[in-house]
Amino acid sequence: MKFDVILACGGMGERCCLGYNKLLLNAGGTTLLEKTINCFCHNDISKIIVAYNANDKATVESIVRGRDNIILCEGGASRSQSISNALKCVEEDCDFVIIHDGARCFLPKECLEKGMQNAIAYGNSVLYVNSVDSLRILDADRSQPIARSKIVRVQTPQIFKKDEIVKAYALADGNDFSDDATLYEEYIQKPIHLTYGSEENIKVTTPSDCKNLNSGLLIGNGWDTHRLDFGRKLILGGVQIPHDKGLVAHSDGDVLIHAITDAILSAMHERDIGVLFPDSDDRYKDISSVKLLQEVLNLAKSKKLAVKSVSAVIMAQKPKLSPHIPAIQSNLANIMGTEENCVSISATTTEKLGMAGREEGISVSSVAVLRQL
Ligand code: MG
Repeated sequence: MKFDVILACGGMGERCCLGYNKLLLNAGGTTLLEKTINCFCHNDISKIIVAYNANDKATVESIVRGRDNIILCEGGASRSQSISNALKCVEEDCDFVIIHDGARCFLPKECLEKGMQNAIAYGNSVLYVNSVDSLRILDADRSQPIARSKIVRVQTPQIFKKDEIVKAYALADGNDFSDDATLYEEYIQKPIHLTYGSEENIKVTTPSDCKNLNSGLLIGNGWDTHRLDFGRKLILGGVQIPHDKGLVAHSDGDVLIHAITDAILSAMHERDIGVLFPDSDDRYKDISSVKLLQEVLNLAKSKKLAVKSVSAVIMAQKPKLSPHIPAIQSNLANIMGTEENCVSISATTTEKLGMAGREEGISVSSVAVLRQL
């Protein structure tokens, strides 16, 4: 059987109070819209028709560029109008149409598959969940309880035979319905087959839903090495360490901050410190690496990201770094605005092996975890 998908993306998501369309919200490195599209990677699904809001045409086009299974279709003034427009893009030879809210990006794969199987078996399939809250109905001057067992909450996807849903929308002739199941029942006069969905399958609607969407963490790693030589200060994590040699660099050579900065850039999917602050640029000559880190933290802030934790290992034969670790951790936590226990720095010798073991240089390996603001 061949299925096409229609994603209802015609609204603006004003209840999220974002000031922009919620479908464009960053959802852990991707947009909410892409996350929803990715729910429909399935062998029996041919095309995904995105009924978008005309205000976001250029952004939506850039999001789906390169995906040849996506058809873009301008939405309408109401949800029903958007679906009606999208139905005109459904392929001639498709058997079923899956209609889904663009903001339900957590659809579990097993729910989609169960819905598709039941649509084949029963002619249509609509996902639902039970109500966990007690319910009351409001009338003019009082409220009355309703038996919870008699109520279900209807979700999407809602799946129909192509010919029937096309006919139902033609008969509706612009009349608006809150969901497709109601419209189908009204004009096709066949019962709806309910398929149990999932509490995970929420429609991102409120500011708190948006916050949950952004709860994912980003991770990056960084590595740096600098040569040791006489006549230079040894600075690690912004702290000057007494030693007869220091690290040679265009900047102050703070190899620890460089590795941490690269880890933060990596977590943001940005290029590395050498690209952002090239050693051919005189502005960075002998600059304190703390300033470079601060610039990268500002970049993170502009992307609504902040450092959650950092871990780094310094590989140095000499000097003995253990007594300086608390001061380094404290200084880095202060710069990055994190709790002190979120910065973990350790030091190791390399048993006199290799470049670090011969005291020719110092290397640092680092991992950074970023959270969404
Ligand atoms: Mg460096």
